Amino acid sequence: MTVLVTGGAGYIGSHMVHALAEAGESVVVIDNLSTGFSAFLPEGVPLFIGDAGDENLVEGVLAQHGVESIIHFAGSVVVLDSMRDPLAYYRNNTMTTRSLLNAAVKGGVNRFIFSSTAAVYGNPDSVPVPEHAPTRPLSPYGSSKLMTELMLHDVAAAHDLKYVALRYFNVAGADPKGRVGLATVGATHLLKIAVEAATGQRAKIDVFGTDYPTPDGSCIRDFIHVSDLVQAHRAALAYLRSGGSSITLNCGYGRGYSVLETIEAVRRVAMRNFAVQYAARRPGDIMTMVADTSRIRSTLDWTPQYDDLETIATHALAWEERLFHERGGLGRQAESA
Ligand code: UDP
Repeated sequence: MTVLVTGGAGYIGSHMVHALAEAGESVVVIDNLSTGFSAFLPEGVPLFIGDAGDENLVEGVLAQHGVESIIHFAGSVVVLDSMRDPLAYYRNNTMTTRSLLNAAVKGGVNRFIFSSTAAVYGNPDSVPVPEHAPTRPLSPYGSSKLMTELMLHDVAAAHDLKYVALRYFNVAGADPKGRVGLATVGATHLLKIAVEAATGQRAKIDVFGTDYPTPDGSCIRDFIHVSDLVQAHRAALAYLRSGGSSITLNCGYGRGYSVLETIEAVRRVAMRNFAVQYAARRPGDIMTMVADTSRIRSTLDWTPQYDDLETIATHALAWEERLFHERGGLGRQAESA
């Protein structure tokens, strides 16, 4: 009953591995350490350094560890990069998953949980966005994930494999116990930038667009704490284990905060008044993205624990402070990977 976590040394994947290990699950990780850190894994969890699309590697791991379920996080996640290099995204996201699924089908794995994204919706006609809303991705990143969803649907129809595709909204925060968090250097995500500013690593934060037709003029996002997201994966696994059929679910709280509100929350918890500069809109940004969460709440046994922006900001800040002091260690690890 082993669970394979691809990308298990990365931001969300490492939270997942800790949660699974804590729950007494047998876990094994494949990660190429391109953005992950082996130090993020709990003691005793086997790590295979390599690509989730390396079928020989995956087949060996599946057989050796008796894998029954795969939770697939490995992939590329930067929207702007995907616009500059779409083929890299179709390779790292779509093609890698195709190879992983091929190995999974051959190896008799019949449960698959996939990290999808709200980016599959593009600009929604209305919010909150339900899963049946039209999918019109604005970036190769979103398209690469949507293509994978389509592939999963077809594979599940043809083989003895059931899946849950979780469409993540804005994942943020860090492990409340401080073990893991977002350590990517040069990250572009709002909460990460804000806590970097709050810890003095940046002189200021730019607000990309204050002229949107929203209450305060800035964009609105549905932030979900990474630990709640991980618990949704555990609930999805339980759902599949108890015979649930394949399904696609939005993963958010169903509540939006503006960029300015988010920055204010970080200022409040940090008790530091870092500089905020109003800047031009960022190309490709969606104005308002909020999940309709009815389906996930009625399908999974999932009760969020950290549905509070200040809590998310507090955990992100605590992690950032720790990282700031330990940056040398993590940096060396990345270089030697
Ligand atoms: N944002 C911002 N300044 C930053 C980073 C992000 O104003 O330094 C805004 C961005 O324009 C968007 C929102 O914050 O409206 C969320 O962006 P993020 O990159 O965190 O996630 P996305 O929703 O684009 O996936």
